Amino acid sequence: MSVCIKTEREIELMREAGHLLEKVHDDLAAYVKPGMSTWEIDKIGEQMIRSLGCKPNFLHYNGFPGSFCISLNDEVVHGIPSKEKIIREGDLVKIDAGLIYKGYHSDAARTYMVGEVAPEAAKLAKVTRQCFFEGLKYAKAGNHLNDISKAIGAHAAKYGYGVVRDLVGHGIGTHLHEDPQIPNFPQKRRGIRLMAGMTLAVEPMINMGKADVVWLGDKWTVVTRDGSLSAHYENTILITNGEPEILTYTGTL
Ligand code: MG
Repeated sequence: MSVCIKTEREIELMREAGHLLEKVHDDLAAYVKPGMSTWEIDKIGEQMIRSLGCKPNFLHYNGFPGSFCISLNDEVVHGIPSKEKIIREGDLVKIDAGLIYKGYHSDAARTYMVGEVAPEAAKLAKVTRQCFFEGLKYAKAGNHLNDISKAIGAHAAKYGYGVVRDLVGHGIGTHLHEDPQIPNFPQKRRGIRLMAGMTLAVEPMINMGKADVVWLGDKWTVVTRDGSLSAHYENTILITNGEPEILTYTGTL
């Protein structure tokens, strides 16, 4: 396994890619409302990405038919945009988005709450986001990969949630998926030592019920086996010698 350390020039491009992706998420949020199909959101979002001079990196990735993965409620990730899938009040809508800017990838996911959602669903979304920030505290040069994994898993465990084990975060750069893999639960080994210049997509996927997931017949959509709700939160981050930099989120914490 080789983990790529980015140069200053590469980091600048990835920062730009990240900021552009943040803008796409922010602009797309207004369209996540009852009555919209996930196909419509995908098309609007694709237009946004292209109008920024970027390309959607999920489109045709291993044959994926959409520019965004849009997953509803018990769907964990990789939902295929569809005219048949209509967003309703109370839904948890996970939008995973990515783009390529001057050859560099960014990747980020949000869980949107549509209108009034059940308190337990809102709590799941909130805790999943917190899991990312718990992991982020350990994303520093000199720490090990497992420090991030452990912190994410421990936070989810406090609430009795199931941490998805079959899907993990990843390195990112000139490819969407680079080494290392980043599990959201503790490992027996401490993993690689983190170094300044690594760019990582950290993405807790947390289920209200058990951790088990299954793939649907469309070969893409991943759902919880027990039908419980799932939430997802992801940012592309940069490891530095000090505090990590979030490349796809510049909002206030
Ligand atoms: Mg990712």
